[in-house]
Amino acid sequence: MSPLIGTLRTIVGDANVLTDGDLRAWEEDWRKRDRGKALAVVRPASTAQVAAVVKACARAGTAIVAQGGNTGLVGGSTPDGSGTQVLLSLQRMNQVRGLDAANLTMTAEAGCILQSLQETAEKQGLLFPLSLAAEGSCTIGGNLGTNAGGTQVVRYGNARELCLGLEVVTAAGEVWEGLTGLRKDNTGYDLRDLFIGSEGTLGIITAATMKLYPLPAATLTAWAAVPSLDAAVSLLGLAHRGLGAGLTGFEVMGRFALGLVAKHFPTQRVPLYQETPYCVLLENSDHESELHARGQFERLLETALTQGWATDAVVAENIAQARQLWHIRESIPLAQAEEGLNIKHDISVPVSRIPDFCRETDALLRQAIPGVRLVNFGHLGDGNLHYNVQAPEGGDMPAFLRDFEPAVNAIVYDAVSRYEGSISAEHGVGTLKRDKLEQHKSPVALKLMRAIKHSLDPQNLLNPGRVLKA
Ligand code: FAD
Ligand code: ZN
Repeated sequence: MSPLIGTLRTIVGDANVLTDGDLRAWEEDWRKRDRGKALAVVRPASTAQVAAVVKACARAGTAIVAQGGNTGLVGGSTPDGSGTQVLLSLQRMNQVRGLDAANLTMTAEAGCILQSLQETAEKQGLLFPLSLAAEGSCTIGGNLGTNAGGTQVVRYGNARELCLGLEVVTAAGEVWEGLTGLRKDNTGYDLRDLFIGSEGTLGIITAATMKLYPLPAATLTAWAAVPSLDAAVSLLGLAHRGLGAGLTGFEVMGRFALGLVAKHFPTQRVPLYQETPYCVLLENSDHESELHARGQFERLLETALTQGWATDAVVAENIAQARQLWHIRESIPLAQAEEGLNIKHDISVPVSRIPDFCRETDALLRQAIPGVRLVNFGHLGDGNLHYNVQAPEGGDMPAFLRDFEPAVNAIVYDAVSRYEGSISAEHGVGTLKRDKLEQHKSPVALKLMRAIKHSLDPQNLLNPGRVLKA
């Protein structure tokens, strides 16, 4: 046993330093594409223990990979294959430290599961609006580490906009006590925002103070068939004007994407998709009453039908129906996985330019690969598309990936650049997009990022080789 392992056992207890047995839950990523090997999985239960672990690793020159729920999608949450990195799991740090209803804030440890935080807030009649399909297993530390988005960004913003304060263990093993519930604090550089979205490369988040909101009196969901993406963008504008802050979700789904759900999950009834190129899912959260929300929604959809921005629409009658509609949207990635290997992109461009972006990129891809199938869906309200490319029907999927992945990525990411978009809207960079980042960020931006990394983590011990090359 190495002296470091002995020290780590002293800090967190023997049972919380795992070196053998089946460690796949921590070593393999959610997509099952990366399988690493950790020197040890270390599971601290307090900030003091995290600080002591980081200090011990820093002394030994051992790299640390922070991990929450291991649902990250960019190959950044698991150790590399060298067997030399400590996998620091925050899962045992799962206490809510406090909820201040009058200040509309909640302070929680990094390992709290997102869904449990939503439930804690709801018990107090409050809303914690961060919401994504992985919410049953992802953690608030991981959400902040990746600046996660999800389905309510159009109203409440990303994880960053919901965070007021952080507690962070630095690369030197010091604790930055930045937990605050202040909405105004202009006292120098914003350290909090440096750590959010840094994917474990600048510090270990151990706790966070997050914003809460009043629970809406009613939340209604509608599903509309739209004749084009131009029409969907017009409908979004109408929804912004008609619903104001009530517009809490606006998702778009292409016909092929919905067809995959119908094919692979035949018990789900997918409305309206066969006759239309796109469907949209809208959510209206109202602080007055369900009647008021329904009236607003019905007026909005009537206008959309008159204008030709929608060709048909349904409003969910009850919560169960609303859940079914959201379930269809959330099933798209799973249906796509059932269909076979595919090339994923998580991109954003200004909302106004989405129709042209898709027209142009769809055509370029179809020209390059006859019969290619496009699984296009996402958070249209945020200008964020999951623009995925599936092999032609009956095609040899591994051969498709081998032969076409670089060309497909070049077509998509060049178009993203032309349309002044981002190559990673919400999943982060990790190892998966690291080389692309080098091509798409300006040299000045990369120089500033390297300077920040070097000054906060001079030994390059925190998640090395993620986001930036080691
Ligand atoms: P992990 O996967 O454990 O870690 C993610 C990154 O954060 C890693 O780089 C890790 O090192 C770092 N990290 C983890 N904990 C800490 C910490 N305490 N301090 C510092 N760094 C840390 N993302 C979206 O934005 N929107 C979506 O709609 C969305 N939907 C998803 C749906 C599914 C089914 C899945 C599997 C993923 C989805 N994601 C989505 C990806 C998203 O990044 C994660 O679900 C979530 O934010 C990661 O949380 P986690 O606790 O699992 O983090
Ligand atoms: Zn998403």
